[in-house]
Amino acid sequence: MSIRVTVWSEFRHEKESELVRSVYPDGMHTVIAAGIKERLGDDCVVTTATLDEPEHGLTEAVLAQTDVLTWWGHMAHGDVSDEIVERVYQRVLGGMGLIVLHSGHFAKVFKKLMGTSCALRWRDDDSETVWTVRPGHPITQDVPEVFQVPQQEMYGEFFDVPQPDELIFISSFAGGEVFRSGCCWSRGQGRIFYFSPGHETYPVYYQPEIRTVIGNAVRWAAPVATNVYSTQSCPNSPLGWFK
Ligand code: ZN
Repeated sequence: MSIRVTVWSEFRHEKESELVRSVYPDGMHTVIAAGIKERLGDDCVVTTATLDEPEHGLTEAVLAQTDVLTWWGHMAHGDVSDEIVERVYQRVLGGMGLIVLHSGHFAKVFKKLMGTSCALRWRDDDSETVWTVRPGHPITQDVPEVFQVPQQEMYGEFFDVPQPDELIFISSFAGGEVFRSGCCWSRGQGRIFYFSPGHETYPVYYQPEIRTVIGNAVRWAAPVATNVYSTQSCPNSPLGWFK
C-alpha cells in the first residue's frame, strides 16, 4: 500500500523574501514533495499543507489520512496553534511518522515530543559535510558514505535533544563545528527523524543526496500495523490468558 505523506511548511519566507522566492518560487514544500515522489514513486501519495490554510492544513481528516508528516518551519513557530500541535503530537504517539527538517528543531511539536529546549549553535554562510555513521540503516540506502552540501547554514553542538535512539548522520563544517544532523527517536508508536540540512536561501532540497535521505526517512517512518495498543488510557482489565 502506498505511504500517504503530508509535506507541511510554513510558506512565509517565500511570500516575504525575494531571495527565498528566487530559490523556491512555488514554496519549499513543493520541492520537498517532489523529492519524496522522485525517491518513492508509486510507493507514496504526497500532498502538501501550509500554515495559513484553515487549521494549518492539518485537519483531523487530513491527519487521519497521513502516514508520515514532514515539517519545515522557522519564522512563525509561534503562529502554530497549540490545538494543532496537540493533534499532531497525539497522531505521532498513535503511530504517524514525523520527519522534522532544519529549523523545525524549534517547532512546538518537536519540542513537545523531545521534552527539551532543542536549542543549537548556528552561523550563516558555510558549507556542510554530511558523514554517514550508521551504514546499513534504511535511511542510508543509496546515500554516499560522505557528501557535501556546498552552501549551508552551520548548525552545531550542543544540540539540546535527548540522546537519539539511532544516530544516522554527523555533519562537519568549514568552521570546524560538528553536529548530529540525522537522528532517530520513537515516541509511543511513532517514529521521528530529524535531518538538519535545508536553509531557505540555499537550494538544498534540490540536491539528489538530500532527496534520497528524506525519501528513505519517509519509508522508514511509515507506521507498522500493530495489535490494539492504546496511548489514551491505562485500562484496569486483565488480559484473558491470565485468568
Ligand atoms: Zn536556516
